[in-house]
Amino acid sequence: MLNKEEAERYSRHILIDKIGEKGQEKIKRSSVLVVGAGGLGSPILMYLVSSGVGRVGIVDGDIVSVSNLSRQVLYADKDVGKKKVFVAKEKLVAMNPFAKIDIYPEWLDCETAPHIFRKYDCIVDATDNFETRYLINRTAVELNKPLFIGAVGRFTGQAMVVIPHKSACYNCVFPEKEKETVHLMTKRNASLGVFSPLVGVIGTIVANEVLKYILGIGKNLIGKLLIYDAMNNEFSIIPVQKDPNCKICGTKK
Ligand SMILES: [Zn+2]
Repeated sequence: MLNKEEAERYSRHILIDKIGEKGQEKIKRSSVLVVGAGGLGSPILMYLVSSGVGRVGIVDGDIVSVSNLSRQVLYADKDVGKKKVFVAKEKLVAMNPFAKIDIYPEWLDCETAPHIFRKYDCIVDATDNFETRYLINRTAVELNKPLFIGAVGRFTGQAMVVIPHKSACYNCVFPEKEKETVHLMTKRNASLGVFSPLVGVIGTIVANEVLKYILGIGKNLIGKLLIYDAMNNEFSIIPVQKDPNCKICGTKK
């Protein structure tokens, strides 16, 4: 049940017939883990928390640096040198005191990932390196958790949603053995550079996918890879197939 203050806070959602009070309660009951509190993680966290997700986990072992500030909009100049998750929690709680924020000031590894992932309904990959992406994908598939992925580099962004064993996983689309080939979803954006507003566009698309999934409305990017070309302002969505030989989710692995 929403209290009076929550009903007021989320009133513009509640006015939408596809959401209503019941939908807003679903959002309140949900829990989402966001891995990566950087450029993509900032808008994702801000929209999930402001929209009323009841419990949000943040995993990031990094500290705020000056070079983050041009696009990681959760952080301010005075935060340089502080652990990202602590600053993020403070900002997010100030934004919405009804949200419970769990923080993990660490880098995800194969020992900790399953323990952390188990506590959440949905997992968001907002990272910028392929080692962590494969670990997140593997763990989400093993634990059967829906996975929402965003990636950015230069002027191009991508997003996709993985429903384990039902749709293509990250490894079906970008097999680990081919990780040496330069691909956005596998190349660290620190080495590519990234156009600042792009992280806002892709991060917001990812948050939109998570919230629609929680609500059970609309169409998600399940079995689809969205590609946004910011330079030419073109969106394309390409179908992606589950690979029966995929070593993570395949039936013939
Ligand atoms: Zn797969």
